[in-house]
Amino acid sequence: MKKNYLLAPGPTPIPERVAAILGQPIPHHRTPGFEKIFQETRDGLRWLFQTKQEVIMLSATGTGAMDAAVSNLFRRGDKVVTVNAGKFGERWTKIAKVYGLNAVEIKLAPGSAITAAELEKTLTANPDAKAVLFQASETSTGARMPVREIVDLSKKHGMLSVCDAITALGVMDLPMDDWGIDVLITGAQKAMMIPPGLAFIALSDAAWKSAATSDLPKFYFNLAKELEAHRKNQTAWTPAISLVMGLAESLRMLKEEGLPAVFARHELLATATRNAVQALGLEILAEKNPSPAVTAVKVPASIADGKKIPKLMRDKHGVTIAGGQDELEGKIFRLSHFGYCGPFDITTGISCLELVLAELGHKFTFGAGVGAALKVFSASGAQPTVTAT
Ligand SMILES: *Cc1c(COP(=O)(O)O)cnc(C)c1O
Repeated sequence: MKKNYLLAPGPTPIPERVAAILGQPIPHHRTPGFEKIFQETRDGLRWLFQTKQEVIMLSATGTGAMDAAVSNLFRRGDKVVTVNAGKFGERWTKIAKVYGLNAVEIKLAPGSAITAAELEKTLTANPDAKAVLFQASETSTGARMPVREIVDLSKKHGMLSVCDAITALGVMDLPMDDWGIDVLITGAQKAMMIPPGLAFIALSDAAWKSAATSDLPKFYFNLAKELEAHRKNQTAWTPAISLVMGLAESLRMLKEEGLPAVFARHELLATATRNAVQALGLEILAEKNPSPAVTAVKVPASIADGKKIPKLMRDKHGVTIAGGQDELEGKIFRLSHFGYCGPFDITTGISCLELVLAELGHKFTFGAGVGAALKVFSASGAQPTVTAT
């Protein structure tokens, strides 16, 4: 027997309380019973997004909501600025191009975040752009973007801010209405702690106004149609019923913990992870602006084949983390620390990493990483996972 642990940045582990609900018999969706659950999730999502707007639930993975944001907001030929800090930023550019938009891409070095000065330069040079499309947390490099500055600058230049917060919402504070974020997006299998298959998107008044004049083709992802349906506790199409039921429970768990505690827990887990890998003599890719959701670690020069780290962790020891993608393949590995995650998920991941680093000939003292993580937890007086069963 091998016990498996999931420490990848999506899908993330499912809490026992949620798993129990996912296994229940399926109700019909056009019933008072399901509509009551749907109403509860609508309220819960508004709380989590910190918005008065309706949060639209789409039966899709996160990319579906990114697609919907583009197809619902813009007109053919519109110019948009995309922030490409990695694979997910690049996806904004690709989606925009598919819909015939003129995408002005800002390409950043892996691990870096955009600076206000860099963004300002591009926005000034492109005053006709309609929006800035970016990530709050670039999952492929573990970099955290300065969301508030991006939103402020977009507003200053009369552009909409479209934020993919798929590994940020429910991890870091992103008060949509307070900060004036125009479009905020997340997905099920990240910090929402349910299996993949739901995507979430909320629009500001300005974004809805832009949506009213959009002429891009859309049928399934028609946000205006969904808004109308959601307000009657309905969806335009058959919803992912079981996932909505699971979501109601995961939102209850987040509410029990409270948003400030949720954000503090993620900061703590991220700090412990960073200290642990540094204590093992490793470097963090996004050292200056690390994401509280995922830590990308550079493969040390002592290890020739970096792909072996995640492979051995998973195949030999049952701990699934993520490797690097595209140009970062074999150069980094990524440890996730968000969603249904507590201190002992971190020590488990780090202890497995230590075993594998030793197997691959990297020199360090056993326990150095785990010890560094424990020090962080001990100093904070952290409780085991607050959102326990
Ligand atoms: C996971 C993720 C997505 C969406 O991926 P899906 O596979 O469609 O769920 C988009 N952006 C970021 C930042 C992500 O982490």
